[in-house]
Amino acid sequence: MSYNIDKNGYYGEFGGAFVPEVLHKCTAELQEAYVDIIESEDFQREYRLLLRDYVGRPSPLYETKRLSEKYGARIFLKREDLNHTGAHKINNALGQVLLAQRMGKKRIIAETGAGQHGVATATACALLDMPCIVYMGATDIKRQMPNVERMKMLGAEVRSVTCGNMTLKDAVNDAIRDWCCNPSDTFYVIGSAVGPHPYPDIVARLQSVISEEIKWQLREKVGREYPDYLMACVGGGSNAIGTFYHYLDDERTRLVMAEAGGLGYNTPQTAASIHSGSVGILHGSRIMVLQDEDGQIIEPYSISAGLDYPGVGPVHCNLAKQKRAEVLSVNDDEALRAAFELTRTEGIIPALESAHILAALPRMQFRPDDIVVITVSGRGDKDMETYLKHSATNSGD
Ligand SMILES: *Cc1c(COP(=O)(O)O)cnc(C)c1O
Repeated sequence: MSYNIDKNGYYGEFGGAFVPEVLHKCTAELQEAYVDIIESEDFQREYRLLLRDYVGRPSPLYETKRLSEKYGARIFLKREDLNHTGAHKINNALGQVLLAQRMGKKRIIAETGAGQHGVATATACALLDMPCIVYMGATDIKRQMPNVERMKMLGAEVRSVTCGNMTLKDAVNDAIRDWCCNPSDTFYVIGSAVGPHPYPDIVARLQSVISEEIKWQLREKVGREYPDYLMACVGGGSNAIGTFYHYLDDERTRLVMAEAGGLGYNTPQTAASIHSGSVGILHGSRIMVLQDEDGQIIEPYSISAGLDYPGVGPVHCNLAKQKRAEVLSVNDDEALRAAFELTRTEGIIPALESAHILAALPRMQFRPDDIVVITVSGRGDKDMETYLKHSATNSGD
């Protein structure tokens, strides 16, 4: 059995493409085209060159000293925080815009919550000279002004969405509406391993450069390609599937994911879709969704804007269901503590999202010679305001 996608776009019972009639042609066209384009020599040449010279890959695999001592294993950090624009999202945004160009599309649309995917897409569009429209909830625009300014400076048009709670899921709905109206010339760049087939697989393939690098970096550093543990945070799941991709079917490696518990997965203030959700259809895919008995989406909550999504990708739902991956729910306060811990032990300020997987460390039981790889999905500059607000309780001062 494989944990990767099947020929119908499913991962076990999860996935598929549940889209309105007008979009069937779009998703079918994409399903038809994406594998051949992504695997083509021409695409790979341009993509790999940009990853190296523009993004700054390979990202280092850094063996921690003090963190390793504290938790009693050899703990390595995969440093996606060092990429251009500060996180892993650029790997995917660049790849999808290159794919759009090869499909003859003339116009890029995207949605964004915290603004991180919007900035990555606007960056790729500036570089590759494509017009870019980013849908963003009015509430998020207010909360994430610096990223809105960055997108505008990069030349993107930011469209304010005023339906519903005016957050990410409303922005997705408007982006889908735009796509329905402009199916022939528009490419919708989705920012995580969610959405209708083939998006989860497109995102997984583009982010799989992370695990591809981990393989040879481990071979160089420890003499074997597989770690005992791979650990990543999950919002929609793109940095996690990128980290796991080449190890999905290698059961020598244990997979660990952290989702955002918010104030606790058993409270209404949570984004822990696997712990607290149920099977439903969200944004074109059958996944675990935070919803009430009537199937209405429950607004998610997490201190971390990038994990604040009411669902999680189909591949992750299946990994959890099949018990291939262990899923932990990590609360706001634990993530904050972990962020300060990494900062003070290793001199690395992580993104709040990444802090959620670092917070899993105290719950793990390692053996001293275990090789552990943790993906630091992004850097913490954007979260300084939150960190400062909580520094008195967490810095140990
Ligand atoms: C967006 C984001 C995430 C969450 O998205 P995934 O698709 O689950 O990876 C995690 N970390 C950072 C730094 C992000 O910007």
